[in-house]
Amino acid sequence: MTGQALVAAVDIGGTKIAGALVGAEDGELYHRVERPTRAKESGKVVRDALAEVVEALAGTPEWAGVELLGVGSAGPVDTVRGTVSPVNIPGWRDFPVVREVRELAGGRPVVLTGDGVAMTAAEHWLGAARGFDNALCMVVSTGVGGGLVLGGALHPGPTGNAGHIGHISVDLDGAPCACGGRGCLEGLASGTAIAGHALAAGWRPAGGAGGRADAAAVAAAARAGDPLALAAFARAGQALAAGIAAAATLVELEVVVIGGGVAQAGELLFGPLRERLGEYAALSYVRGLRVRPAELATDAGLVGAASAALRATARAGEGA
Ligand SMILES: [Zn+2]
Repeated sequence: MTGQALVAAVDIGGTKIAGALVGAEDGELYHRVERPTRAKESGKVVRDALAEVVEALAGTPEWAGVELLGVGSAGPVDTVRGTVSPVNIPGWRDFPVVREVRELAGGRPVVLTGDGVAMTAAEHWLGAARGFDNALCMVVSTGVGGGLVLGGALHPGPTGNAGHIGHISVDLDGAPCACGGRGCLEGLASGTAIAGHALAAGWRPAGGAGGRADAAAVAAAARAGDPLALAAFARAGQALAAGIAAAATLVELEVVVIGGGVAQAGELLFGPLRERLGEYAALSYVRGLRVRPAELATDAGLVGAASAALRATARAGEGA
């Protein structure tokens, strides 16, 4: 089917666990499989879903030639210990995902990557950050996450969590955050925050009390000109502008790529963000910062897990 080397990739999220064999040269996906995470059930049930995905990959004709697995996971992750404690999977706390997958995969090496860093690897390899040596890639959806490319290399940090921009503060005396901090970007710019802000301002979803009151519904109302819905997106855009400016000023970014469900709102979010960015990113070296929508859609997690695994092993090979 393909002449190139294949890397097995697994992407663990709160809703589904996906897997595929990924072309090491072009990022094409083969034998994509998916199982519901069943995150509300026990850790063992989630582990069984993971096992089904890895076993499906192990049953493909190309498996014998696979020498490496990349696992991307919702965080927090600990890439030193090989464990994950995904916020949305309560049954997994310090779950030894690397050991489990290695056993399921006949002892093959496994590289663990957080989902924000994986998305960044994917956009840097094949998407909107391609060709840039200094990039921040973000996911804005139920939460806000991200990852960094610095000096041309993926920068996961010591335990794999660098770039988690959702939990930097953009509001000194802001609301407490589940992370323990306050005024976090996630609390102002996530889909949950956008819907919450609109509701608090008096916006009501179409269809009355039974109507959907999420960020997509607020986006639909904003497109129809509802001022309260527009204000909710403007506030999220402003918060993103402040957070992005802080990151860009600190490490001299060239491009910021934004994906995730809330980014699907397009100009409703990107418009106010770009408009406000100059207020916060004022120094000469960040004034030219580019802000772009992500280019890879739903399978960025799989492509990124494979890419990060390839990069990690290449680094090891250089002895760096
Ligand atoms: Zn926080």
